[in-house]
Amino acid sequence: MKIDRRQFIVVSSGALAVTPFTRGFAAGQAPAQAPGQPPAPAAAPPAVPKFEDVRRNVGLFTMRGGTIGWLINKDAALVVDTQYPDTAKTCLDGLKQKTGGRSLDLVLNTHHHADHTGGNAVFRAEAKKLVAQARVPELQRTVAAATPNSSAPVVADATFEKTWSEKFGDETVTAQYNGPGHTGGDAIVHFERAHVVHMGDLLFYERHPRVDRPAGASIQNWMKILEKVAKDMPADTIFIAGHSKDGLPATVDGKAVLRFRDYFDAVLTTVRKGVAQGQTKEAVAATAALPGFESYQGGGALTLAGVLGVAFDELTAK
Ligand SMILES: [Zn+2]
Repeated sequence: MKIDRRQFIVVSSGALAVTPFTRGFAAGQAPAQAPGQPPAPAAAPPAVPKFEDVRRNVGLFTMRGGTIGWLINKDAALVVDTQYPDTAKTCLDGLKQKTGGRSLDLVLNTHHHADHTGGNAVFRAEAKKLVAQARVPELQRTVAAATPNSSAPVVADATFEKTWSEKFGDETVTAQYNGPGHTGGDAIVHFERAHVVHMGDLLFYERHPRVDRPAGASIQNWMKILEKVAKDMPADTIFIAGHSKDGLPATVDGKAVLRFRDYFDAVLTTVRKGVAQGQTKEAVAATAALPGFESYQGGGALTLAGVLGVAFDELTAK
């Protein structure tokens, strides 16, 4: 039987469209990675634009890169994180339909990574201001300086050290820095009346995270942040994850936040055991699975081995 090649391609590319990693490989692309840079975050959902209401005028947008959060009420509109230029444009167009074309009052960045700030220029052009934690602009510039042919990053025009808060209509939005976690400059964004918290990449849901040690990450303090946030926030709080396992929602409850803390506890326990037995970093990183967390999604640039390696560096640093 003669196979219709065109049909085969259509079918197979459709099947491959499940993850961006396989799409990249199918197109023969190497993962974008500048020399000397940590791997680009691979925790991207399928590139299908999706707007979801979360609670009390807070919603989210997923397409490619970190989850974008938004608030639209009758007096104000803002976004948290900006993904990439192309997906930012798609998000902005969709939000304009919800706002009737009003301009944005604010763009917030949870941290500096390109899949959260790459669309800053697109949103900044239509927003009154851009806010981030104090280290974010410097970290954006460091990445840009090490990336060939990159243009100057669009950075915050207002920054804060520990907390930043402002009223937007009947909602109060507070950004909070709790020390190093996923990077050296991560903020969580609390929609206080909605009981919704955008965690940025301080929350990966059921997938191995990126731990950006060159940018100041700390697994041990990250665990403390997760404990503090789970304890401080009201019991019915909805947490927005920066990245979730393919097919799982971007919103979770406090139990999932604590499970992610337990994941890091298991990581550190495994690494401490290996170090005590005199194992090399390579041997520790080759651990096949983490008991209780076998369901975590790996693949692409983000793997258990990667996390174990960074944990080894952190625990053995002089
Ligand atoms: Zn990140």
